[in-house]
Amino acid sequence: MSLRSGLIGEIPGETARVARAAFPKGTLVTRLRDEFSVLYDDEDFRKFYPTRGQPALPPWRLALATVFQFLEQLSDRQAADAVRGRIDWKYALGLELTDPGFHFSVLTEFRARLVAGGAEHLLLDAMLERFKARGLVKARGKQRTDSTHVLAAVHDLHLLELVAETLRATLDDLATVVPDWVRATAQPAWFERYGRRVEDYRLPKSQEKREALALEIGADGFVLPEALEGPDAPQAAREVAMVQTLRDVWRVHYAREDDGRPRWRAVAELPPVGERLQSPYDPEMHYSTKRQMEWSGYKVHVTETCDEDAAHLVTHVKTCPAMQQDMTSTADIHDRLAAKDLLPAEHFVDSAYVDAGLLVESQRDHGVSLEGPVRGVANQYARAKGYEQRHFAIDWERERVTCLQGKASVTWRVGRDETSAPRIQAIFSRTDCGACTDRPLCTPSKDARRSVYFHPRPQYEALNAARARMHDPAWKRRYHVRAGIEGTLSQGVRAFGMRRSRYVGLAKTGLQQVCTAAAMNVSRIVRWLGGVPRAKTRVTRFAALASAI
Ligand code: SF4
Repeated sequence: MSLRSGLIGEIPGETARVARAAFPKGTLVTRLRDEFSVLYDDEDFRKFYPTRGQPALPPWRLALATVFQFLEQLSDRQAADAVRGRIDWKYALGLELTDPGFHFSVLTEFRARLVAGGAEHLLLDAMLERFKARGLVKARGKQRTDSTHVLAAVHDLHLLELVAETLRATLDDLATVVPDWVRATAQPAWFERYGRRVEDYRLPKSQEKREALALEIGADGFVLPEALEGPDAPQAAREVAMVQTLRDVWRVHYAREDDGRPRWRAVAELPPVGERLQSPYDPEMHYSTKRQMEWSGYKVHVTETCDEDAAHLVTHVKTCPAMQQDMTSTADIHDRLAAKDLLPAEHFVDSAYVDAGLLVESQRDHGVSLEGPVRGVANQYARAKGYEQRHFAIDWERERVTCLQGKASVTWRVGRDETSAPRIQAIFSRTDCGACTDRPLCTPSKDARRSVYFHPRPQYEALNAARARMHDPAWKRRYHVRAGIEGTLSQGVRAFGMRRSRYVGLAKTGLQQVCTAAAMNVSRIVRWLGGVPRAKTRVTRFAALASAI
């Protein structure tokens, strides 16, 4: 498929006449077309199409149809039908009334092209460029970010199902590629054991039988890769992707005794959760927990503008593995916003996105003030007794710390903490601490001297300033603006299906979240330009009584 240069052109006269007669006040998509005759342009997509071959459908039209699809939560078939049959879609897409549209698989191919080109963010970023050109979104205002969980498209398997289904799926894929080799290699019992999909209700109920079956499956799963290493195994069999998945699952969950028999790995032997597969059909989904919630899938971070006098628009979405800490995304979000020239001056986040290093780096690298609460002091004992690290005076020039008893530290060490961040340790003298009457208040140890740990000076001062502002009523009032992101996530989940992945894999799930964000922006910008006020946070009548009192 090659891309031919094509102008977006006018809406065909008959289409415009019928659409305006049917919808005198317009619909969301017709009003979008009236406001933005060019929201996407073929040039935005040129590098993803070859220069030769059959002419492709105009990508600007496919991009718009994709956004409309997510706006209304339609399947590919329903979206293709809407292109064919909906007057308002024909108006927005500039199609003749008689245009037959396209086959629904074209939408799948279009998304695959974006994923293959690493352009999952294009549908949102190109839209933001057009909004920027109209002055609807600007850098250096206020933005806010929060995350929510995304359930994977494939269902979670418990351990016995996981290993059995992984082996079954591997045999199935091999049977497609090298049927003769599989027929010659498979043991007769395998056809019975792995002949159909493994479901928990078909597995034995007694613990004894389940353990016996797990060991049989474990042994089978070691035999198959060994056979693939043999001289008779065809190269094509070794290249089947599911074989690597089988190896990964077995490496994590099975070990071999000295005599070669398999055994389940003990919990203590298991690698971190990020290295464990939850399903052979989506190796990138992971298990995670947040407060009382457990899920398998991904996590999405949503960033939006939140200036009072402008439309609230999503500026970035980042999809990542479920178990990844929010804090590891803060710097990346700033880098991506910088690339779009949409960095905020103030970025409102919760404490999961803030640490001492990020407070300093956000300001130093991007001029962004990271506005969020910082976590409390880790030393619970010192906090309870009133001898916290903040009560010690630090002389940065002389590299010395003075305690509440006026004693000075004798050692100053620069090292790294468990996350490899720089950390300073100041140690007091054994003589001073040994003779100190306040030692029970300062350290739980009966004989050790006190050590205090703190960040290097820039991070230390940024952290203390962030802690101080948390008690400032004016900052607390400003920080209220962060809460609005909860409403955006709620809108994404309830109105746009953000919580459940439609597709398998991180890249496709990421593209889905970008399409969802683009659809949310369409909905918001059309309402904003139409003068519709932003919805206020709903308060129940009973709660309203309380505020009146
Ligand atoms: S225990 Fe050591 S560090 Fe703590 S107050 Fe006493 S002298 Fe100072």
